[in-house]
Order: sequence, then C-alpha cells, then structure tokens
Amino acid sequence: MAELSGEKNIIEVNGLKKAFGANVVLKDVSFEVKKSEKVVLIGASGSGKSTLLRCLNRLEDDYEGSVLFEGENVNGASKEKLRLLRQKMGMVFQQFNLFPHKTVLENITFSPIKLKIANSQAAIAHAHELLEQVGLSEKADAYPQSLSGGQQQRVAIARALAMKPEVMLFDEPTSALDPEMVGDVLDVMESLAQKGMTMIIVTHEMSFAQNIADKVLFMDDGLIADSGTAEYIFKETNNTRTRSFLSKVM
Ligand code: ADP
Ligand code: MG
Repeated sequence: MAELSGEKNIIEVNGLKKAFGANVVLKDVSFEVKKSEKVVLIGASGSGKSTLLRCLNRLEDDYEGSVLFEGENVNGASKEKLRLLRQKMGMVFQQFNLFPHKTVLENITFSPIKLKIANSQAAIAHAHELLEQVGLSEKADAYPQSLSGGQQQRVAIARALAMKPEVMLFDEPTSALDPEMVGDVLDVMESLAQKGMTMIIVTHEMSFAQNIADKVLFMDDGLIADSGTAEYIFKETNNTRTRSFLSKVM
C-alpha cells in the first residue's frame, strides 16, 4: 500500500447515519479518503453501499453525522456550493443514463458547456481527448443506442471526467454489462487509477478490487464491519462475516 499518511483527506465521513423511515440503512459509518487513494466498497446487496455513495455527493440528505469534502460540510452546502461539489465528485452508475437523442460527443460536452466549465471549443477538444482515453475515438458522432453496453459505460465515464472531477465515484459500473464487456470498462478504470485519480468504487469484481484497492471497506448491514488493505481483507482477516461474504462471491 502506498504510504499516504502525509496526505490530506479529500473526504471525511464521521458517524454517518441514514434511515428511510424505520429502515436504518447506515448505522454509524466513518472513514476517510486521501488524495489519489482507491477505496473499494464491498458487501452484500442491501448492505448500504449505494446509499453511502449517494450521501457523499448529497444525492441523499437528511442524514446524521458529517460528510466533509475538502474540509467543507457537504450537508450544510448552499445550492451553489452543492453544484460545485457535484462537479468535483463525478459519479458513474450501473445504468449509464446517456442522453439518447444526443451523440456521444454531445453527451460529453453538454454539461461542461451548460455549466460554463469550458467554452464549446475547449469542451469539444477535451471530449475528443477523453474519447481517446476510453478507447472510443471513432464513436464521437454515434448515438448511444448504436453502442454496446460496455461502450456506453465508457462514454459515461468520459462524460463524468469532462467535468474535471477530483474524485470519481463508481457504483457497480460493470454489473449491468455482458461478461465480455466488463474487461474494457475495468481497463479504463485501471488507467484512470494509474493517472492518480481519487476513486471510490463499489464492485463485485473481486480480482479487480484486489488489484486496485489501497483500502477495502466491507459493509455489512449498514456498518463498515471490516476494513484494511486488499491484502488484509482478501487474505488475512479473521472476521467471519468478511470471510463468509467472500466465500460466496469469489
Ligand atoms: P446496496 O447498494 O449495498 O445494495 P442500498 O444502499 O441500495 O444497498 O440499500 C440499502 C437499504 O436501503 C435497502 O434495504 C434498500 O431497500 C434501502 N433503500 C435504498 N434506497 C432507498 C430509498 N430511496 N427509499 C427507501 N429505501 C431505500
Ligand atoms: Mg447498490
């Protein structure tokens, strides 16, 4: 594991609790993420992984505890601050949700232009760079429905990167893909990791998790039940819940 102890935390979560009615989904979650760190969240379906990611950029609110992004409280953020915050935290979902009536290039340039992050010339130039980065240079003028799921997901990653985020959140980005598409998407994520991007990744791809993670958080029933290096979680832990979960998915 890289020695990161001198680095500042980009994200700090303290005592996070989130309920939907009587269903307490996050019970008391604390962790931190340092610049360039790759944090992988694993755990059974329903354990609260998506809710946790969504609290980070306040797609969920009404939670107890605190989420700090670069030292600032996400929960108290004004509308303007929140927009900036979401710009700095790119998110990629299981369902890619591209705009069906826009080309690949337009999907990528739409938000940066609308939010005045770049003028259209710069946004288009950046989009072409990003398409090259995700291996889809030749698809700039294609429409989403003409692409495979894996290609659409790579466009969704490029679209998130177009906002020049400081952190990328991935919520099971390969779970909806046919198996033969998964590798290309993971390769793009791997290259992003090598470029130094700070990443929080929910995935069931355990060998990928093992390779990429600086830190693995095992979520169980709304709590981080176990955490540590990939080496620790995948090889050394004696936590019976971690072992039982891993024995089912590996
Ligand atoms: P995971 O991503 O680990 O599968 P989720 O965070 O999606 O888990 O869900 C955790 C729990 O929260 C589940 O019991 C789920 O039904 C519940 N939940 C998630 N989102 C909502 C919502 N918008 N309204 C009510 N319950 C929800
Ligand atoms: Mg989920």
